Amino acid sequence: MDDILLMLPGPTTVHPRVLNAMSQAVVNHRSKRYGEILTETNELMSKMFQTENQSYLITGSGTAVMEAGISNVLNAGEKVLNVVGGKFGERFKKIADAHGIKTQELAVEWGTAVTPEQIKEALDADESIKAVSVVHNETSTGVAAPIKEIGKVMKNYDALYIVDTVSSLCGDEVDVDKYNIDVCVTGSQKCIAAPPGMAAITYSDDAWAACENVDSHTFYLDMKAYRKSGNKDPAETPYTPSVSLTYAMNEALKMIDEEGLDKRVARHHKAANATVAAAKALGLELFADEKVSSATVTALKIPEGLTDSDFRGTIRDEFGVELAGGQDHLKGNVFRIGHMGNISYKELFQTFAAMGIYLERNGIVEDGAAGVSSLVKSYL
Ligand SMILES: *Cc1c(COP(=O)(O)O)cnc(C)c1O
Repeated sequence: MDDILLMLPGPTTVHPRVLNAMSQAVVNHRSKRYGEILTETNELMSKMFQTENQSYLITGSGTAVMEAGISNVLNAGEKVLNVVGGKFGERFKKIADAHGIKTQELAVEWGTAVTPEQIKEALDADESIKAVSVVHNETSTGVAAPIKEIGKVMKNYDALYIVDTVSSLCGDEVDVDKYNIDVCVTGSQKCIAAPPGMAAITYSDDAWAACENVDSHTFYLDMKAYRKSGNKDPAETPYTPSVSLTYAMNEALKMIDEEGLDKRVARHHKAANATVAAAKALGLELFADEKVSSATVTALKIPEGLTDSDFRGTIRDEFGVELAGGQDHLKGNVFRIGHMGNISYKELFQTFAAMGIYLERNGIVEDGAAGVSSLVKSYL
């Protein structure tokens, strides 16, 4: 099992340094020692979000901070515009629905990206929209939304700009302050390459101002409680955090800082471009519009004549490479290669060698080495 290479859009392979950090003794979460680690980790998170504002760790998966993000800045009955072009855009809407927040869906065809103009039109048409939710990297379709350009539109409106960067932060460009993002959320197990179970969130001043006017409809995820505890000296969290995962986040973020955020993002773009080129060389078809295809995950159509279970099953069992399937109506028709976290040429070579052997053996391509050959060119 240890030999399985995770080419997934989360969880991603965790570096031994991070695993070792987790084996440190568990300390009192109300101690000075924990407070120091928490403060340092929150500061590193703000550095990665590229914000002057405070960030807060919340023990939970990415969905927890999506919920914290949206439920604390809108009262029941207030309206949010949800951009929905895949599973995670849909999730933001479902969360808002669950809190009695009024939702308006801006539906985008799966595989394509929303445009800044569409957002502008929607905001011009309805002044009651209090917030807009956008998923930066729609992991289900392999599409990156233009969050920088949308940010330029959002600057001219009072509506809050809520962005999910769970599968993009530290793998693609995210600059919270420059993009005018009010609420930004991310998770541990994607590009940050820590184990699953920890999430992070940051609020702008406008988001906090909105939060002051919201009668909290959540308890565990009440952002005012995280702010109050986080601002104590030593810093705390309101409820018992995963101490071990805090160590893991701390170490993973230090590794990102050592690599350099810009270099890390460039490494992800290079892997994405190499993946797309190698996939094409094997005759595979991209699910997403290539112009907006993601820096961290590539969704590809399963060639006709193959079944998802045999394709991904053989690649996993015989070659030790775990690929992701499609979600919802894409299940069985699409598979996804995650190239996020600690991924470089080495992992891509193993992946494309395995796929090439499988595809040639099954008569889908004549030259199963074409993907690997393309990778050589990409990494020359
Ligand atoms: C993974 C992911 C999430 C969060 O999922 P969890 O399973 O709750 O961690 C949210 N948004 C996007 C875009 C994701 O890729």
